[in-house]
Amino acid sequence: PEFGGGIPDGKELKCYHLGGQSGPIGFPEQLDTRYDHTSLKKQGLSIGSGAVVVLDDTVCIIDYLKKVSEFFIHESCGKCVPCREGNRQMYMILHKFATGLATEKDFERLERLSFTMATASSCGLGQSASTALDSCLKHRREEFQAHINGICPVCLNSRKYGDQYAY
Ligand code: SF4
Repeated sequence: PEFGGGIPDGKELKCYHLGGQSGPIGFPEQLDTRYDHTSLKKQGLSIGSGAVVVLDDTVCIIDYLKKVSEFFIHESCGKCVPCREGNRQMYMILHKFATGLATEKDFERLERLSFTMATASSCGLGQSASTALDSCLKHRREEFQAHINGICPVCLNSRKYGDQYAY
């Protein structure tokens, strides 16, 4: 807190996104890590562009990942299928979680999609589009699970409002 004031308004740190939209997401239990390439890599984190986005505990991780996904849908040049269609599919599956319509099978779909995009996309944009998602699936799977049960742990309400897909 002495170097930035900490999280304002009495809220708690939820996570931090390192290195831009292509970068991994870190969590409070990983905070005690030196900000250098080797130390961060051991934690599955990276410096990337040097950007740091800090999120407090009022942010729903699914909503945040949807925003990341929107960025990649917008930025994809559309040349290769894993990136062009993969980002759209990722957004739609995340939207199912957000609206309480996801099932256990959607975990597998997300993981398979992430692997395909990371290994089969033609350039770094598509290859790194699922990096943030991977961090969250690894460290906050229970938040995805809660959405399957129809509850967002942030707003603590059922989110089965069934709105339309944006993409
Ligand atoms: S991975 Fe690169 S080449 Fe393929 S669609 Fe995405 S931006 Fe275009």
